Amino acid sequence: MQRILVTGGAGFLGSFMCERLVAEGHDVICLDNFFTSQKTNVAHLLGKPNFELIRHDITLPIFLEVDQVYNMGCPAAPGHYQYNPIKTMKTSVMGAINMLGLAKRCGARILQASTSEVYGDPEEHPQTESYRGNVNPIGPRACYDEGKRAAETLFMDYHRMNKVDVRIVRIFNTYGPRMHPYDGRVVSNFIRQALQNEDITIFGDGQQTRSFCFRDDLVDAIIRMMNNTDGFVGPVNIGNQGEFTIRELAELVIELTGSKSKLIQQPLPADDPTRRKPDITLATKHLGWTPTTPLRDGLAKTIDWFQSIDLNDYRPPTP
Ligand code: NAD
Ligand code: UDP
Repeated sequence: MQRILVTGGAGFLGSFMCERLVAEGHDVICLDNFFTSQKTNVAHLLGKPNFELIRHDITLPIFLEVDQVYNMGCPAAPGHYQYNPIKTMKTSVMGAINMLGLAKRCGARILQASTSEVYGDPEEHPQTESYRGNVNPIGPRACYDEGKRAAETLFMDYHRMNKVDVRIVRIFNTYGPRMHPYDGRVVSNFIRQALQNEDITIFGDGQQTRSFCFRDDLVDAIIRMMNNTDGFVGPVNIGNQGEFTIRELAELVIELTGSKSKLIQQPLPADDPTRRKPDITLATKHLGWTPTTPLRDGLAKTIDWFQSIDLNDYRPPTP
């Protein structure tokens, strides 16, 4: 049994991570400032003796005694991270420094939730971890992409200089129950629109691609990486290799929901990556992991969840 800190623990992925770790019997501290999440995501864990919730912003230091840290606190959807880009950069960079300092003091192992966005609009396809990326450092996505790149740098420097036991995972587009219904991401938008028979908003011509990983597969890989002991610290790509155009995704959501929605086109946002697909050779080799949930099955579970919630319980992010 370990004492485990999960920053961003009330979020879409963090809350499922907490749920898994609590079920495994660990002592879990969930730390969150609730910028893009709500307490309802972890309400079912509050009565458990091995779960604790702290409202805290990781841009500020905190003193806790733990064995492991999953650093997942950061707005992740474009609409969320562009809401206050300076705060996004601070969260990535100062959050990493504070959490690495905590890990160094406690001798804890620390994992960084990095992102496929470190590859920007990739010129290499599929993307391997050795690809250095094509990020626009001054564009509207830079606060997130460059913040996450800087956090990776800090993780590797604390590892080399201070011998902090680090892990880095690069997460590709992940979806599932508890994603914020108004986060503006493509899966949440399309399901919400389809269930309400509203127009489905395709940005650009819909020929851009993404590879969508189901939440449960992703969290499984992250926990494996945290507990990996073969000396591999990453970065490691975690994602599903199935590659779909955004138009294909829209058509699948319409089919699965039986919706009457029509597809409409809207302008493509600046710097929107054209293609994205992970090479997961390293994850398979070091973690014995491959995702097992096909998009169709994962979407069906996500649609069920969207049908079970009251959209009025969710609000857009606030300062
Ligand atoms: P999310 O927005 O649901 O979760 C992020 C959580 O971090 C939220 O609960 C939010 O309130 C919290 N947070 C934000 N700023 C904070 C701060 N300054 N201090 C404390 N807490 C803060 O997003 P998610 O999809 O669950 O993403 C979790 C992590 O995984 C993020 O670090 C994200 O960058 C990374 N990631 C996610 C995806 C994906 O497709 N979901 C892809 C790549 C990387
Ligand atoms: N997208 C879309 N309609 C929407 C929301 C997003 O066509 O209502 C597109 C978006 O332009 C991008 C893709 O879907 O090409 C994935 O967008 P998302 O914001 O989910 O993730 P990211 O761009 O960060 O991969």
